[in-house]
Amino acid sequence: MSSSSLAGQKRSEPEAEIDPDCKCAVCFEVLLDPVTLPCGHSLDQRCLQKVLDSGGQRACPTCRKKIPADPPAISRVLCAMLERSYPRQVRRLFEMHAGRTVVTRGASLQQGQ
Ligand SMILES: [Zn+2]
Ligand SMILES: [Zn+2]
Repeated sequence: MSSSSLAGQKRSEPEAEIDPDCKCAVCFEVLLDPVTLPCGHSLDQRCLQKVLDSGGQRACPTCRKKIPADPPAISRVLCAMLERSYPRQVRRLFEMHAGRTVVTRGASLQQGQ
């Protein structure tokens, strides 16, 4: 009975628990097209745009540090990591926001050749 130690593990959860670092501070979903601010926090490019367009203070929703006038680019590394870690959530969000431009995915698919 050497395999009994495995019995305690939780198995076949419907969706992986999302790491707080992988969640958008604005919509609380898995980051989609994540943008990392100089303060180190990340949010969706879509949600960052909302913050910038709101006309209020341009500040990080998490720590309230100022967002630079020139917002950072989408982090492709983070993007790929999130797709691997949370494929279901990413797909769901993708379908939810279908119609928007898919910047990163199109580009990475081209490289397959
Ligand atoms: Zn968001
Ligand atoms: Zn921040």
